[in-house]
Amino acid sequence: MSKATTRTLRQFYDAMYKALGPQKWWPGESPVEIIVGAILTQNTNWGNVERAIANLREAGLLDWRALHRIETPRLAELIRPAGYFNVKAQRLKNFVEWLCRRHDGDLSQLAKIELGRLREELLSINGVGPETADSILLYALERPSFVVDAYTARILRRHGMTFSGYGALQAIFEDHLPSEVGLFNEYHALMVAVGKHFCRPKARCEACPLRRFMHDETA
Ligand code: SF4
Repeated sequence: MSKATTRTLRQFYDAMYKALGPQKWWPGESPVEIIVGAILTQNTNWGNVERAIANLREAGLLDWRALHRIETPRLAELIRPAGYFNVKAQRLKNFVEWLCRRHDGDLSQLAKIELGRLREELLSINGVGPETADSILLYALERPSFVVDAYTARILRRHGMTFSGYGALQAIFEDHLPSEVGLFNEYHALMVAVGKHFCRPKARCEACPLRRFMHDETA
């Protein structure tokens, strides 16, 4: 563990938080809604996910038992706004099947499982990758699993950090920050905000809260 990296990550966080304030993530009213959102948000924007979730809410389907009962083609129709709806309907079904078969359809049972083991279980579900698994762990289950994504990778690379793959990028944060759900929650949300508004394919460094940490502002 490097003290310099810990200091840098802390300074990033403080600068983003000071400039952008709390992000109040995850946008969802209940753990079931957060998990559904984490699965539906793959390869689409959040507005489309919200429309799909509104359809599910209207149909009384933000409930594990109801999701377990519904036929997959009908589910696909309801989540059509989220795109790739046949694939995502099957992924939702895979998650619900796992929860109902292994854990009696009861999210509270997951709290008893050691974090690393639970993460492995989630990753064993067809269609749940590392980012989705960590989003479920952190935002729905309130377990300290840091979420990284393409925004995080771009920001850190532009600030001179090197890593290879999801696990190595995640380890930069998990190895250098205290394992706190509140900190991990806010940190990822702030990185997404910086990625969306400033650290775009063409960087807008002049207005970015992380500008003062750039050594080469032309990067
Ligand atoms: S926009 Fe510029 S200052 Fe902001 S995170 Fe990206 S590279 Fe850094």
